[in-house]
Amino acid sequence: MTIKAYGAQAGDQPLEPIAINRRAPTAHDVQIDIAFCGVCHSDVHQVRSEWAGTLYPCVPGHEIVGRVSALGAHVSKYEIGDLVGVGCMVDSCQHCDDCDEGLENYCDEMVGTYNGLTEDAPGYTLGGYSQQIVVHERFVLRIGHPETQLATVAPLLCAGITTYSPLRHWQAGPGKKVGVVGIGGLGHMGIKLAHAMGAHVVAFTTSESKREEAKALGADEVVVSRNADEMAAHAKSFDFILNTVAAPHDLDAFLVLLKRDGTMTLIGAPATPHPSPQVFNLILKRRCLAGSLIGGIPETQEMLDFCAENGIVADIEMIRIDEINAAYERMLKGDVKYRFVIDCASLVA
Ligand code: NAP
Ligand code: ZN
Repeated sequence: MTIKAYGAQAGDQPLEPIAINRRAPTAHDVQIDIAFCGVCHSDVHQVRSEWAGTLYPCVPGHEIVGRVSALGAHVSKYEIGDLVGVGCMVDSCQHCDDCDEGLENYCDEMVGTYNGLTEDAPGYTLGGYSQQIVVHERFVLRIGHPETQLATVAPLLCAGITTYSPLRHWQAGPGKKVGVVGIGGLGHMGIKLAHAMGAHVVAFTTSESKREEAKALGADEVVVSRNADEMAAHAKSFDFILNTVAAPHDLDAFLVLLKRDGTMTLIGAPATPHPSPQVFNLILKRRCLAGSLIGGIPETQEMLDFCAENGIVADIEMIRIDEINAAYERMLKGDVKYRFVIDCASLVA
């Protein structure tokens, strides 16, 4: 079926209307009419070929929510009309150790929701800035929030799971001091989730204007990271720091805030590397520097259920699809409170 979408023809071109095809649902497929799609900073990295390897035309979007509109013959988990979501991946090998453990995100053959290799034309996946998507049921998530919150649930499919997974893995919770660096799409969800898990949360921002708002998101303390005195007051005190920053920066400024055996996990994925940290900042306190990639499907469902139970959604600014290029420029300036979400009905208008 041919549907409307928005995509870029090259890395230096703006996004524009484009017609794409979706396969008819096969036995285990779920066809979803997309209601809303969040705008992740990864969309910008990918569409502009900052990570290299982008295939064009590129249709981004991996924070997808909508309603089931058709089902393959063997789908048992979903019914037509169900509220569902799709995150950053739409397939994997489904039989390696990682897949067997529900960590499809670490499968060597994981297929991204866009720019991932597939047998469907044009040979790679096209994402959620579109009217419809067809996905294997294993990679479809159930949404338990009320429908009125659907737009604010979309960012949970990437920003939510990408922060939830490392917070759980490194055991954020009561008695733990947890830092979240960068208050953008990922960071604002990291603050909400770490707070809901019971940790003492400290938000780090470069934006003075976010100081008070970060407290409203759930931060117990806020540090403007450009202020050396404010930073020094937290030396050697953190159990865990989640670093979401999308640009290269000085990691040592945060490593020295970890206590002995503390970990800083990088989830921001800048196009060029961070300056290498001082080895002695790791050696002297047996500190760890780690990374984390989104989360597996079972954990994504767990995160959605946790958010539904705890009334957690993203703070969003809704846009029409023809506002997407301006939204990218604003996101690059850190000027979004805190996630743009596309109203996909505007693709038709
Ligand atoms: P975003 O909304 O643009 O937020 C990034 C935040 O980082 C900004 O709001 C800003 O916060 C801070 N920041 C930006 N430039 C900075 C700089 N030069 N120095 C210091 N701080 C800076 O982006 P996002 O959607 O949250 O994504 C963040 C990164 O995570 C991107 O690189 C994205 O590709 C990556 N990502 C990774 C995964 C994964 O699985 N690991 C998944 C999704 C996204 P303040 O104003 O508070 O300083
Ligand atoms: Zn993302």
